[in-house]
Amino acid sequence: MSSIQIERANRLKRLPSYLFARIDQMKQEAQKAGMDIISLGVGDPDLPTPDHIIEELTVSSRRPANHQYPSYKGMESFRKSCADWYGRRFGVNLDPGSEVLSLIGSKEGIAHISLAFVNPGDYTLVPDPAYPVYEIGTYFADGQVHFMPLLAERDFLPNFSDIPTDVARKAKLMFINYPNNPTAACAEMGFYDEVVEFARAHDIIVCSDIAYSEMAFDGYKPISFLNAEGAKDVGVEFHSLSKTYNMTGWRIGFAAGNAEVLSGLGSIKTNVDSGAFQAVQEAGIRAMEADQACVADMCKIYRGRRDVVLEGLKKLGLQANMPKATFYVWVKCPEGYTSSEFTAHLLKECGVVTTPGNGFGESGEGYVRMALTVSEDRLREAIVRIEKTGF
Ligand SMILES: *Cc1c(COP(=O)(O)O)cnc(C)c1O
Repeated sequence: MSSIQIERANRLKRLPSYLFARIDQMKQEAQKAGMDIISLGVGDPDLPTPDHIIEELTVSSRRPANHQYPSYKGMESFRKSCADWYGRRFGVNLDPGSEVLSLIGSKEGIAHISLAFVNPGDYTLVPDPAYPVYEIGTYFADGQVHFMPLLAERDFLPNFSDIPTDVARKAKLMFINYPNNPTAACAEMGFYDEVVEFARAHDIIVCSDIAYSEMAFDGYKPISFLNAEGAKDVGVEFHSLSKTYNMTGWRIGFAAGNAEVLSGLGSIKTNVDSGAFQAVQEAGIRAMEADQACVADMCKIYRGRRDVVLEGLKKLGLQANMPKATFYVWVKCPEGYTSSEFTAHLLKECGVVTTPGNGFGESGEGYVRMALTVSEDRLREAIVRIEKTGF
């Protein structure tokens, strides 16, 4: 029997193909051809979750109360722990009752927030290049995206005076992300002050994504958007335990900041999901409240890898800024290569998977992103292969 006619909704037809799915496919093809692949493509930590966090999950998962539906907002104890962590880490005061909302990974909240605030035709302001979810979440809400180019000559910070006034007027949300994926750029107070001022002038809700705040090197401590004066009046920040504690598979994060914004996001969530597994929330509490030595250890490992790659790139004559934070290196393509061409060259000739910069947006053209998700030995091997092959 033939099947019924199955046609996808327009919102799905409109989507760009999910970047990492495409890279995964290229990688699998190379593997099938018998190649030893060094994967610097996807930003997923290769290190395990620290033991004390796993121990907490095994204990918490046995508690019958944790087997029932959680609250979409998150347990009171989890929200309090998030608020305390923000206080200790950033000196930011949050009311756990109204200014913290648990998320099933920060991607979940980032994808849903447009549904709460964007009407068809409304704009969101999205960095270019960027994590793809800001743009895609907007499309799911039938909104329009105005891209804010992040260029090397402006240290990969958007220039608000380039945004046309009629777009700013129709914009409901602005996404920012520092320390930045994919460029590894960082932002300081002066920039966040500008964001608050721009948001106030045009009634734009700011959504700051701070997934990489704890992955920083050489004594650098990234600040939070919520550190800026008046930030809580104009927006929220999305934080994640994924990168800080090697917990990408656990799906736990939270949003913090403006209570009205969180309440809107919460209205979507209460109708879509039923919160994160409470045992995972309890493990998250343990992660945030325990000694943070595991975070320092992680940073030390990434710093070592970063130095291997930067030294190697220098030897190869490839240009990249020294990252102060994140586990990404944003590498300028050599003369004569587009992003896609250089990515394909590195994969096919060297077995090294990278992400083409243009996959994160038009302004990423001319770059590839390397993720520091393999050992120093494998990174050295990648450099040797690229050197041998040439380009
Ligand atoms: C990894 C990452 C996240 C975190 O996603 P989770 O859903 O919390 O795992 C958020 N934003 C950016 C830019 C990221 O790279």
